[in-house]
Amino acid sequence: MNNLHITAYGATDFVGRSSFVIGDKDHNVMLDCGIQLIPDKLSEAPKGLEKIAQNLDAVILSHAHIDHTGYAPKMVDFGYEGNYFMTQPTKDIVYRLWMDHLKIEGERHWREDDLDQTYTKTKTFEYRKKIKIADGITAEFLNAGHVLGAAQVLLDWEGTLILYTGDINDRVTPMFDGYDLPEEDIDILIIESTNGDRYVPERYKIDIGFRMIAKQTVEEGHKLLLPSFAVGRSQETLITLALDPDLDNVPVYIDGMINTMNMITEAYLSEKWVSKRFLDNLKERGLVSPFKKENFIPVSSISDKRYRARKYIATNKEGSIIVTTSGMVMGGPIHSYLDYCGWKKENIIGFTGYQVQGTTGREIVDGENKIKIFGDRYQPKTIDLKAQIMKFPYSGHSSVEGLKRYMHESKAENIFLVHGEKRNQDYIMDFVKDIASPKTLNEHEKTPLMDN
Ligand SMILES: [Zn+2]
Ligand SMILES: [Zn+2]
Repeated sequence: MNNLHITAYGATDFVGRSSFVIGDKDHNVMLDCGIQLIPDKLSEAPKGLEKIAQNLDAVILSHAHIDHTGYAPKMVDFGYEGNYFMTQPTKDIVYRLWMDHLKIEGERHWREDDLDQTYTKTKTFEYRKKIKIADGITAEFLNAGHVLGAAQVLLDWEGTLILYTGDINDRVTPMFDGYDLPEEDIDILIIESTNGDRYVPERYKIDIGFRMIAKQTVEEGHKLLLPSFAVGRSQETLITLALDPDLDNVPVYIDGMINTMNMITEAYLSEKWVSKRFLDNLKERGLVSPFKKENFIPVSSISDKRYRARKYIATNKEGSIIVTTSGMVMGGPIHSYLDYCGWKKENIIGFTGYQVQGTTGREIVDGENKIKIFGDRYQPKTIDLKAQIMKFPYSGHSSVEGLKRYMHESKAENIFLVHGEKRNQDYIMDFVKDIASPKTLNEHEKTPLMDN
């Protein structure tokens, strides 16, 4: 029996800077390497990785989200000489996110040169292909149902099967049909727990209310503001709007990095990466791409003067939908839109994504109406929100029953909960106690993966 252990450098009982190293006496494999976004502050990097970077055999990134990838380029600076493994869509997306990170925070965490090196050391794989990453160790990507290219990582470590879910979703979403389960029985399961205490309604049920609100708001000549994550939720939202014939004539403005992510998504509209059901839905509506509709308008196409274009869209008399970043209102064009039209009580701010504790988005959904934002040309200011706040309980993460089903069907005897708040983890432990006794991790503590 090999003495496998895991060390977490983040995402233990919180969401952010997912970074884990699995090792035994001969090898070390890093799963994800993210940063943590903190309200009103600069992002936080995992600590202590300089001690391990040179001893890593592989760095594997589950998906592009910055809380799973934001610190990865630093590993080359710390002396890591191996490869970065990910899926091809993840490579395309994460590179944009890394460039964006450089724009926002500069070279605080790593330099552009580190990024170039990381890029040349990146190896991409499809789902369900075995990748040799070290002597006696293979990895395989399984569809996570989370965002485009998102993978779960199945490690075969000298016969011991370790499954790291990354972020998974059990629900049918516009592009995916839920997570794939490994065919083999798993020995060790490291599973996310974002929705550990939450029942997530099935998506089509939420869609009914969402589409109704969209139609009503626009018909009455008001604005529906949808702060959305550039990767994932914004594409899902746009697809939901695109597939509804009743919304064909409603102006949908798209602002921020979402436009780039839409273009990347268009390159992967095949059964290798998205569900057949989704491709069939597009065909039925006569769409080659869900994002190329006449009523979908990238804000950058209106004028080079961004603030002027946004002000016009936000304050004119036309009823419209505005889909923009950032998803947790931590910056991005959403601040301008809130500034220009958040004061009007007939407008609606619709949250379609999970709001992490401490973010501006979370403050808003919790009822705070004095909100600090960046106005025109990044001037900090406090605004008085009067628009109606609505929460659409979409989630990119598995519902609590989906997590339980995973634990049950994988047959894992050793289960670790990561990537969730403590109350989520407490709830889930109780919820699954008839089938499993998952554990949690402490940061920087070498924890055995199996009871010997
Ligand atoms: Zn994610
Ligand atoms: Zn995550």
